[in-house]
Amino acid sequence: MKFVAARFRGLGFILWQTRHMAYHVMLGLLWAWFLREMWGEFNIRWIATAVVGSVLPDIDHIHYFLSYGRNDTYTQQIFSFIKHHEWRKLFAFVATGHKTNTSLSYHNIYVVVLLIGGAVIASFVDWQIGVVLFGAMVSHYLFDMADDVVQLGGINRNWMRWGRPKK
Ligand SMILES: [Zn+2]
Repeated sequence: MKFVAARFRGLGFILWQTRHMAYHVMLGLLWAWFLREMWGEFNIRWIATAVVGSVLPDIDHIHYFLSYGRNDTYTQQIFSFIKHHEWRKLFAFVATGHKTNTSLSYHNIYVVVLLIGGAVIASFVDWQIGVVLFGAMVSHYLFDMADDVVQLGGINRNWMRWGRPKK
C-alpha cells in the first residue's frame, strides 16, 4: 500500500513537471476550437492535428540531445538520469533546464514568421489541415516566448538567431 502511494506521488510529481507540455496541448486545442467556430464545421482530424502541431516544435530538443548538443553538460546530465532510472530527477531537471537551453536551432522568430506565412497561404487555398497545423505550431513558439519572459525576465538568445549557435 505504501509502495502504491509512493508510486502515485511519483506520478503526480512527474505530471506536475510536465505541465508545460499540457499548456502547449491546451493552446493547440484552443486554436482548433477557434477555427471550428470560424469555419462552422467540426472535424476530428483537426483536433488530432492541433495536438500534434502544438508539441511538434519540441523535436528541436531531441535533435539537440542526439546531435549538436550531445556533448553539452545539460545533455550529459539528462543521459545520466536516464541511465540510472532517476525519473523524478530527470523531469524536474528538464522542467527548469529546458528554459535556459539557448542552443536550439529552430526555436526562433524566423521559423515563426515562416509558419504564420504558411498558415495564411493555407487559408487562402482552403487547405484547412495546413491552417490547423501551422497555427498550432505558432502557438507553441509564442507560448515558449511568453514563458521565457515570465520565468527569465526576457526571451532567450535562440529566438533572434537562425540555426544553432557558433561554437
Ligand atoms: Zn518548445
